[in-house]
Amino acid sequence: MNDPLDDYRKKRDFGRTPEPAPAGSDAASVRQPGFVVHRHEARNLHYDLRLEVAGVLRCWAVPRGFSYDPADKRLAVQTEDHPLDYEHFRGRIPKGEYGAGTMTVWDQGRYELVKAADWQQAMAAGEVKLKLYGRRLRGEWHLVKTTQGPRSWLLFKSRDRYAGSSRDSALGIDPGELAVTAMHAPAQPMRWLHERAPFTDPQWLFEVEFAGQRCCLQKRGDEVRLIGVAMALPAIEKDARQLRCDQALLDGVLVASDEHQRPDRHRLERQLAAGDGTGLLFYAFDLLHWEDYDLRALPLLDRKAALRGLMPPTTSV
Ligand code: MN
Repeated sequence: MNDPLDDYRKKRDFGRTPEPAPAGSDAASVRQPGFVVHRHEARNLHYDLRLEVAGVLRCWAVPRGFSYDPADKRLAVQTEDHPLDYEHFRGRIPKGEYGAGTMTVWDQGRYELVKAADWQQAMAAGEVKLKLYGRRLRGEWHLVKTTQGPRSWLLFKSRDRYAGSSRDSALGIDPGELAVTAMHAPAQPMRWLHERAPFTDPQWLFEVEFAGQRCCLQKRGDEVRLIGVAMALPAIEKDARQLRCDQALLDGVLVASDEHQRPDRHRLERQLAAGDGTGLLFYAFDLLHWEDYDLRALPLLDRKAALRGLMPPTTSV
């Protein structure tokens, strides 16, 4: 029988490299398949995208890395299948060995195959559409086989809510090792933060100590609510649905403006009492939770940068 890991085994001396030797055949796992992206500082720096498929990792080397700009199509060279244990590998492959250099985990998460019935069908069609759930890589990505060679593919971002500029991370920041947690809205608003930073969207302007009501905005899919505010605010909810994420918890302040666009606390109180949401604005200044991750361990300035990274790309500045 043809072992898909033969190539992998042949290229390595497991007495010399710290990389994992293939284990005995593993029972097919039922959990959702994972993916990992290694940053591989070999002779040439590249990124190795590895996807769990039928008991092995199917791999592509991406020399120029990832881009959220759908027009930015990156070469991806399919390499030999790797054993599942490689998903957790990080370390230095010694000089003179195959792939010598440092390998770090750049991103890790789960994925889904989109559209195609199975991998065999997708590979035969030369078109693999993936939905990635990582810390940096989110949303749909496309791998399309080219005619340049048997292992030559193009990797690019599909057009979805995450697509946009040429950055390589969904939030535009280094997410580090974030804790995966369920999203919980705080019972109490967080304390005031005395911090000044410019913000790009007039709808979501950042300012300190607006005369308004402190609250959190929670987004779950298309469902948006302002915690502690009893009435519906369709304009704010509509804008928040455009955020580049499935789930988020934003800290901010709800304000009403007077005729000179100045926050007016009395007007807000009157409107809240009357259940009139006309013209109310939500000014976000912190991002507490994003997708599956609790961001509160990140430095505040990173969270602010991440909040900016959530703004839809079509927003007028
Ligand atoms: Mn590599």
